[in-house]
Amino acid sequence: MSSFLHTKWQHLLRDSAETPESIAAALNLDAGKLQKVTDRYPARINPYYMNLVKKYGKPLFRQAVPCEEELEDLPWLFPDGLCEEKQSPVRGVFHRYPDRVILAVSSECALFCRHCMRKRDVGKKKFFDREAALAYLENHEEIKDVILSGGDPFMLSDDCLHELLSALRRIPHVETLRIHTRMPCTLPQRITPELVSMLRCHAPLFINTHFNHPYEITGESAFACGLLVDAGIPVGCQSVLLRGVNDNSQILKDLFRGLLRIRVKPYYLHHPDPVAGILPFRMDLAEGLGIYSKILGHISGMAVPPYMVDLPGGGGKTALSRNCFPEADANGWIRLKNFEEKQYFYPALARPLGPAILS
Ligand SMILES: *Cc1c(COP(=O)(O)O)cnc(C)c1O
Ligand code: SF4
Repeated sequence: MSSFLHTKWQHLLRDSAETPESIAAALNLDAGKLQKVTDRYPARINPYYMNLVKKYGKPLFRQAVPCEEELEDLPWLFPDGLCEEKQSPVRGVFHRYPDRVILAVSSECALFCRHCMRKRDVGKKKFFDREAALAYLENHEEIKDVILSGGDPFMLSDDCLHELLSALRRIPHVETLRIHTRMPCTLPQRITPELVSMLRCHAPLFINTHFNHPYEITGESAFACGLLVDAGIPVGCQSVLLRGVNDNSQILKDLFRGLLRIRVKPYYLHHPDPVAGILPFRMDLAEGLGIYSKILGHISGMAVPPYMVDLPGGGGKTALSRNCFPEADANGWIRLKNFEEKQYFYPALARPLGPAILS
């Protein structure tokens, strides 16, 4: 294990490469090319993850380093393609499903993932309206599950998080809390004994983290996940199937088995969302399903997450399996049903040729 384990996470964060010049210098790249991308989508690579990028190359490089293809737009893919803002009653609250909401409590992260589905917001100093959000939750008794997300909630201080979790715990109908954070993977030093002992006071509280490649499972990240699980905090993982990163069934099998070994349960495998800025990572759904079909049944069911797509227009997530794959229209869109049995159109091609023509 490297000495990073004993380096304070605040110091690591402060020493992140964020400017085109600093990233270019660290990785021997052209700052001008990076600049074009960071003008639109900010970059941040902390020293822990930078070290992994240097050690392992492409699969981590692609997740962390801006690439020009991010700027490529298709007029039928939107920055907020999943319509979160339309389903937002209060700034920073996304209420799509009947019994649960997302609170986007921070727009900052320890790494700005190039494939982020919320890249319209991350790094752009968007703040949630704490008082209005708490009032909304109090007034909606149907909400049983509150998900802290962002950005990364662990960018907040321990005190600030404790105060927020305590306020949520005072709402009688809120049963479970979740924190969606990439820190166990991208900056595991953030998972300190102090943070963990604070979190355990707020049980039942679940953490979902985000690993995409077996190279991300290091001594440090295993230690961080172990601290959480030993404190009785269940840890799940939402991975994304990413072109040029993990689009291979053997890599995914190694990833999911590796996660189980560090006691992290694979929760979802997401197809990259149809939003602007993540074209470098999208692949055809048929290809994704082909990869997934070589995993499901081939390794322990404990290790296999459902394969999910998030429906444009705010329909929500729905699982796909090898036995049901609908016919696409000439522009590459298919029809899928959401949890309310309503029909939505989904771009089954990585780059749909036009808007949906199904009706
Ligand atoms: C994904 C998501 C959730 C959580 O969904 P689960 O399937 O319960 O994990 C909640 N709200 C929104 C808006 C989401 O996108
Ligand atoms: S840590 Fe999560 S919210 Fe932040 S950039 Fe990565 S995927 Fe997006």
